[in-house]
Amino acid sequence: MADNNTAAETIFSKIIRQEIPAPLLFQDELVSAFRDISPQAKSHILIVPNKLIPTVNDIEAEDELTIGRMFTVAKKLAKAEGIAEDGYRLIMNCNQHGGQEVYHIHLHLVGGEPLGRMLNPK
Ligand code: 5GP
Repeated sequence: MADNNTAAETIFSKIIRQEIPAPLLFQDELVSAFRDISPQAKSHILIVPNKLIPTVNDIEAEDELTIGRMFTVAKKLAKAEGIAEDGYRLIMNCNQHGGQEVYHIHLHLVGGEPLGRMLNPK
């Protein structure tokens, strides 16, 4: 659970602890997953560490198992969603230029339809 005393908790910590209702698609001792409240594709799931890590810049070596778990959970959820074979995209935004809105790192798993190019042309 969140144990970073210097960072402010976000809504994600409350979801992880189930203090606010949001169906969990997955939870173990390291990570949790739930659907994005504002899906950007037919399938849009967020995979988050139970521990509060505000941004990618805050990831430490001790977090490597957790970060790896986020990807193996993403793979399993993609299969469960039936989108693994057609393909999907995994995204993690960092800070302002990356478009990060919630300062508790999360891996976006998006798919279920063609997603187009990775970045929109300016
Ligand atoms: P970011 O821009 O930080 O990479 O992505 C934050 C994501 O969290 C957005 O896609 C947004 O829709 C989602 N989000 C924000 N608040 C909530 C919430 O209360 N519940 C859920 N399930 N998703 C949320």
